[in-house]
Amino acid sequence: MDFLPINLRLRDQAVVLIGAGVIAARKARFLLGAGAKLTVIAPRQESAFAALGQEYDFRFEARSYASGDLADAVMVIAATPHRSVNEAVYREARERGIPVNVVDSPDLCSFIFPAIVDRSPLTVAISSSGASPVLARSVRSRIEAMLPAATAEVARFCRLHRDRIRAAATGEDDRRRLWEQVIDGPIAQLILSNRWQAAEQALAELLESHKPATVGEVYLIGAGPGDPELMTFKALRLLQRADVVLHDRLVNPEIVAMARRDAEKHYVGKRRSEHSVPQDKINETLVALAREGKFVARLKGGDPFVFGRGGEEIEELAQAGIPFQVVPGITAANAAACYAGIPLTHRDYAQSVRFVTGHTKDGKLSHRWEDYLSESETLVFYMGLVGLAIICEELQRAGRAADTPIALVERATSPQQRLITGTLATMPQLVEQVKPQPPTLIIVGSVVDLAARLRWYGSG
Ligand code: SAH
Repeated sequence: MDFLPINLRLRDQAVVLIGAGVIAARKARFLLGAGAKLTVIAPRQESAFAALGQEYDFRFEARSYASGDLADAVMVIAATPHRSVNEAVYREARERGIPVNVVDSPDLCSFIFPAIVDRSPLTVAISSSGASPVLARSVRSRIEAMLPAATAEVARFCRLHRDRIRAAATGEDDRRRLWEQVIDGPIAQLILSNRWQAAEQALAELLESHKPATVGEVYLIGAGPGDPELMTFKALRLLQRADVVLHDRLVNPEIVAMARRDAEKHYVGKRRSEHSVPQDKINETLVALAREGKFVARLKGGDPFVFGRGGEEIEELAQAGIPFQVVPGITAANAAACYAGIPLTHRDYAQSVRFVTGHTKDGKLSHRWEDYLSESETLVFYMGLVGLAIICEELQRAGRAADTPIALVERATSPQQRLITGTLATMPQLVEQVKPQPPTLIIVGSVVDLAARLRWYGSG
């Protein structure tokens, strides 16, 4: 970070503004809005300032800046067209150790103004550290659209009832959850629809009936194939509610970082043949944490119910009487296929698709290979990288043509995604050369040939 965003209390503090042009007027409005005791120094003022004078009180001194003008100031802004004046202001501010901003001169700024979304007492400040004010403004307009004007009322309501809510909660977790109920639930909705009294009534009822949670909840969340944008809204919402997050290797660290800052995060491994935490231990941990009253997010790569052992985890929870929710995710087959431009089904080439495990046990795969002979079915192998040669060999032995197309999608949806295509006959050798890394998904069938045609238009 080049600049640390902080919120300054300026009420009744002496701030000096040198310059009285249009840009200076804009800065003055912010400062006066924050309650600063403002002195404006400039030989003359533009009409924008006259308008400001009708709304706010400030002092105007019709003269040029002179050394010593900052003697009582806690902050100064220079917005004159003269570099020499701006530099002199900067030097005096530095000597006095007060924050200084010179408009349009990043080298003469000890602080910069962010783009502001004002829903006071809630404010959002956006800064690109000077890299691109236009980008910051564009982000601001997106955030503005997300926050109705009445969000200010919600913030005011919270401020007003802070102490009551604090008093009703037992401990930190409970307090946070109570707040979440207020902010994410019907109470905030009532305020947003301008029904303040009904909101107060609802809050009174909530606090009256509030009991701290004795048992938590487990969210088994499909986090998708890697690209954080491929998570569902529900996955994100529950992840952000969790007190504890359990994740493994398939889950992108960027997704884990979307959990609350203060949530505990536990890595529970799962690299092939390096099961850092055994499955039954994970199941036990989920139960134990929920019994402590925690909300636990168990993040799974892709979909929890597609080769994700989600079934085993919830069986344990159900037996222990722990409430849980399962959130579906985009499974690797869907994601890899879309990003590689391989339709899993196609009217002319494949009428069905089959998800198959490629995980070998003792160097073998015990499938009924004769079930996999249909040319109009796409086969998708998960966990098949180690057993790739066996898969190609067994399919041919069972009767699939040696020139059946096969694709490997390596690290699908990540910036390192690679597509490797060949045939059942050529792929084992090709893999020796290009050495794909896990996770890699294998797709077999004539749809693979469409990739060359469709990839141009795909998302990968
Ligand atoms: N539950 C997961 C699958 C877990 S099994 C899901 O629904 O996607 C792990 C296997 O999934 C890996 O061996 C690999 O074959 C596949 N896989 C997961 N993420 C992948 C990705 N981003 N790219 C390619 N393959 C992936």
